[in-house]
Amino acid sequence: MKLHGIRVAHKKNTANCAPERLVIPKSVTIPMSMHIGKPANIAVHKGDDVKVGQLIGEADGFVSSNIHASVSGEVRQITERLNAHGQKIPCVVIEADGRQEKYEKLAPPQVTDFESFVKAVKDSGVVGLGGAGFPSFVKLNVYNLPAVEAVVINAAECEPYITSDTRTMLDKGEYVFKGIEAIRRYMGVKRFIIGIENNKKEVIEKMKALAKETEDVEIHVLPSIYPQGGEKVLVYNTVGRIIPKGGLPLDVGVIVINVTTLAFVAEYLETGFPLVEKCLTIDGSAVKTPKNVIAPIGMSIRDLIESAGGLKTEPSKILYGGPMMGISVPSMDEPVLKNTNAVIFMDKKEAAPPKTTACIGCGACAAHCPFRLDPRAIAKAYRLDDGAALKALCVDLCMECGCCSYVCPAHRPLVQTNVLGKGKLKEYLFSQQALQKQETKARQQEQKKKGGADNE
Ligand code: SF4
Ligand code: SF4
Repeated sequence: MKLHGIRVAHKKNTANCAPERLVIPKSVTIPMSMHIGKPANIAVHKGDDVKVGQLIGEADGFVSSNIHASVSGEVRQITERLNAHGQKIPCVVIEADGRQEKYEKLAPPQVTDFESFVKAVKDSGVVGLGGAGFPSFVKLNVYNLPAVEAVVINAAECEPYITSDTRTMLDKGEYVFKGIEAIRRYMGVKRFIIGIENNKKEVIEKMKALAKETEDVEIHVLPSIYPQGGEKVLVYNTVGRIIPKGGLPLDVGVIVINVTTLAFVAEYLETGFPLVEKCLTIDGSAVKTPKNVIAPIGMSIRDLIESAGGLKTEPSKILYGGPMMGISVPSMDEPVLKNTNAVIFMDKKEAAPPKTTACIGCGACAAHCPFRLDPRAIAKAYRLDDGAALKALCVDLCMECGCCSYVCPAHRPLVQTNVLGKGKLKEYLFSQQALQKQETKARQQEQKKKGGADNE
C-alpha cells in the first residue's frame, strides 16, 4: 500500500542552473529565530564590528539554534520585527563593509565521539534546511542510539519549482556521503536510505554512482507524487513503517534528515564554517530569469530579487518555499532565512485564487489525503464549532500539505479551514482539561466534606 497524494506540475525550471553567488548587499537583517524553538540570545551590541561566521546569537535552551554573521561589518541596530508568522522577533542589523572577512577563530571542530559530534552540529547553527527549521543537533541527539535502525535522507524535493536540494546533490554530492559516514561513525547507524523522486534522473545517477563507493546506502527511487517529501509519507514509502499519531520517526527506529542539511553538516566538520548563506531557488511567473542563487542569510527579498536579475512584472504574491506549502512573504523587506529554500514571485494571474463554489460531495479531498482525513467533514465540524468531532476526525494529524484544496473541484479553502480547525481543537482540548480539573476539585471537596461529617 502506498500513501495517497497528487500529481502536480513539477515546474523544475532551474534544475540545470548551477547556483550563482549574489553580490553582498549593503546591509542584512538577521532574525534571532529562524528555527523551531526559543529565539537565540543576542551576543553582540550596537557598534560592534563583526566578521563572517562570528556568533551573533547564542542558542537559548534545549530547542534553539546558534546564529552567525553572514557579512563582515558593523552592527548598526538591535531591533525587533514581525516575521511572516506575525511573531515579534529580535533581529541584528549589520551594515556590510564589503570585505567579507572571515572570523579568524573559525576552525574545523574536534569530533571524536557522539557527544562532540552533536556539539559540532549545534555549533554550526544548522537547522532543517528543507524548510522545517528544526535545530538539527536536537534531532541527532538521540538518547537511545541502538534504537536507531535507519536514517532516511529526504531528497524527494516534491514541491513545484524548488531545485535547491537537486543542486546540493549535483554540486555537493560527495558531502552527502561524507555526512552519511559521519553519522555511521559517531552514531553507529548502519542503514541509510536516500529517497529521491523519479523526476530527477541526473541526480539519481549521481547518487547511485556515489553509493557504489560506500556500504549500506540504498537509493530509493520514489514516484513523483506530492507530498512524497512529507516526513510520515517518506518513512512509510521508504521503510514501510507507520509513525504513530502524535509520534516521531524515532518511534519507529528512524531519523529523517534533509539532504542539504546532511551535506552541510559534513562540510562544517571539514571547514568549521557555520551556516551563513543559503542556496535557494528564485522562480515564479513574475521573475525575469528563474535561477538558483547563493545569498547571505538576512539579505532582504528586495535585494535578493534585484541582485538576481529583477522582476518582469509586479508580483501579486511572494512565497517563502513552494506553492503547495510555502508561506506568504508579507513585505520585500523580509530577510532570507536559514530554511529558505525558494522564493517564488507570482504575477496576478498565477496568484489569483480560483472562484469558490459549493461542495458537490465528490469525496476527492478525502481520496487524495495522504492520511485519509476527511477535509469536507472537518470543514463541517469547524463550521458547527464541534470540538469533539474535530478530535474524532483527527484534524491535528493534518500536515497542511494542501492536496485536498488542490484537487477540490469547488476550490474550497480546505487546508486553511484545517488550520483553523486545529486551533479550535486546541481550544476544545484546553476547555476539556479545565472542566476535568474543576470536576476533580469538586469531587475532592465533596469527599473531604463527607470525611469530615463521618468523623463527627
Ligand atoms: S492538507 Fe491535511 S487534510 Fe488536506 S490532504 Fe493534506 S494532510 Fe490531508
Ligand atoms: S473535494 Fe471539494 S467538492 Fe469534493 S467533497 Fe471535498 S470539499 Fe466537496
